[in-house]
Amino acid sequence: MMPDSLNQLIESFKMLPGVGEKSAERYAYAILDLDDDMIHQFAESVDNIKNTIKRCSICNSLTDKNICSICSDKTRESDILFVVDDPKNVFLFEKLNMFSGKYHVLNGLINPLEGINPEDIGIDLLIKRIEKEKFKEVIFALKPSIEGETTSLYIKKILDSMDVKITRLASGVPIGADMEYIDSLTLERALSDRKEV
Ligand SMILES: [Zn+2]
Repeated sequence: MMPDSLNQLIESFKMLPGVGEKSAERYAYAILDLDDDMIHQFAESVDNIKNTIKRCSICNSLTDKNICSICSDKTRESDILFVVDDPKNVFLFEKLNMFSGKYHVLNGLINPLEGINPEDIGIDLLIKRIEKEKFKEVIFALKPSIEGETTSLYIKKILDSMDVKITRLASGVPIGADMEYIDSLTLERALSDRKEV
């Protein structure tokens, strides 16, 4: 019978998305093959992740400092703001290296059926930041869904009284879960063809 500790490691890997029995076993055996230092490093990074990763106090993205590296980068364009509903998308866009402005991460999207209201996703903080940092343009890159639509319209209504251009990525881009499968050219086009809302 398989030792409990090995079984436990396999079960742990199976908690991850897309990892079935076979892959979990392969990962567990691969861990067994690592040398002690590497195993220690692996275990430590897993153990640390929840304690070190927090939300940036300016943009609400994930960071291990109080203010993330994007917010503290003085070379970035400071008059254009990219609004996403998941911190994952910040890193995706950064990886594609096609946007040099600032980001803001909402805590999800407005969803009245599930009781998620504007104050739950931090819209007040977004509005305050837009006022304070005087952005000239705000680009919405929210999930193309009823919730994404509701959220952009809600924010747009508030911003209408302010001197800021509101745009969204050109349609046809599946933002969200599928976004990691889009090539950079498609996204680049969606960004350059963005439309005023
Ligand atoms: Zn930040």
